[in-house]
Amino acid sequence: MNVDVAVIGAGPAGSTLAALLARRGMSVCLIDREEFPRDKVCGEFLSYDALPILERLGVADQLDALGAPRIERCRVVGRTRDYEFGFPQAARGISRFALDELLLRHAVASGALPRIGWTAVDIDPASRTVTIERNGERDVVEARVIAGAWGRWGRFDAQLNRTFVRDRAHRSFGFKRHYRAETVMETIDLYSFRGGYLGVSPVEGGITNICGLAHASRLAKHRGRWEGFVEMIRGEESRLESLYAAHVPAQENFLSSEPVIFRARSPVEQGIVMIGDASGVIDPLTGNGMAMAIQSAALAAPHIAAIVNGKVEAAREYSEAHKSFFDGRIAWSRRIALLLSRPALLDAVLRTFHPRAAGEFLLRATRAGDGDVAHIVREAF
Ligand SMILES: Cc1cc2nc3c(=O)[nH]c(=O)nc-3n(C[C@H](O)[C@H](O)[C@H](O)COP(=O)(O)OP(=O)(O)OC[C@H]3O[C@@H](n4cnc5c(N)ncnc54)[C@H](O)[C@@H]3O)c2cc1C
Repeated sequence: MNVDVAVIGAGPAGSTLAALLARRGMSVCLIDREEFPRDKVCGEFLSYDALPILERLGVADQLDALGAPRIERCRVVGRTRDYEFGFPQAARGISRFALDELLLRHAVASGALPRIGWTAVDIDPASRTVTIERNGERDVVEARVIAGAWGRWGRFDAQLNRTFVRDRAHRSFGFKRHYRAETVMETIDLYSFRGGYLGVSPVEGGITNICGLAHASRLAKHRGRWEGFVEMIRGEESRLESLYAAHVPAQENFLSSEPVIFRARSPVEQGIVMIGDASGVIDPLTGNGMAMAIQSAALAAPHIAAIVNGKVEAAREYSEAHKSFFDGRIAWSRRIALLLSRPALLDAVLRTFHPRAAGEFLLRATRAGDGDVAHIVREAF
């Protein structure tokens, strides 16, 4: 297959990019190893600063049709008191089963050529070819630009010799499960435990998602068995004990993530244009990873179009635009997450600050401003 752009990964970043480029009349191959709908370790909180892009794509109405709850407030649950603040606009709770399939279908309806269920097994940055494989069958996609949208951890990160792969000191792992409770939630709640935290929020169908992140040092004894780990943190924090006691699992097992390493990353590696988590991971506590994935696709689309049209320096321009759009948010998210993974310190801080002022600061430091989102929307469409 010979295309303008090969996009590896059909998560929120890859599918958004594929739709935007196909709408510009480009030939785009969208590759993902999974069949959809598929689950994903994620708090499934879709931040409000992604919504203007979904509105322009014409898929925002579908969130209503899917029954995605509106989430207007965040509650930080400390040991001795809670701390609540509002969002400037409603965010949405939407499962990854539903959202990722919605965006993938939209990309295909926009004209992207899907290779779903195909694994990209090799990339050659020099010849810009991607080898894909499914059930022993092989194919080669030749592209003028390869876009890396393979998420936070993939085989190509090692192949491209990306430095974060060697970082063993800052690894965390995520875990997630859907639950039912007597009361359907209306807020997103954040709970702290030593070395990690939990996000609890509603998604469609009256389901509550409890999704956590724990530093690798806390998991050594548990060897991937999340039941034991959750028992341990319930014993440590009484608020977590009450939370889990009020929820009945709606999924058979916990879902476990690959290693999560929070760092800004290079947005272009050997000519491959990275988007979404592959271009930098914001701490999940912000609930802003999917928004960043969608925004980075919108930011990248005009630059990729320019590269396809022969403007070589557009790759450098994308790198600079990406750094100024995201690096500050990634750095702040990490600082705030370190506070959330220290329950005693968190309590002390909650006693000191006014909820509204601190909430506004947290949102400003980790989200894109309205003007910035409006700008990337203007350039992307
Ligand atoms: C514990 C935790 C909680 C989180 N909570 C939230 C939250 O509440 N809200 C939020 O906005 N974000 C949250 N995030 C972050 C969010 O999940 C990511 O930022 C988001 O999924 C990034 O989207 P993406 O498209 O870049 O990558 P992904 O969604 O990871 O998609 C990558 C795709 O690439 C495919 N792929 C990978 N390798 C290959 C290959 N070789 N060949 C073919 N296909 C391949 C995968 O199958 C996958 O479908 C959380 C993350 C964690 C770890």
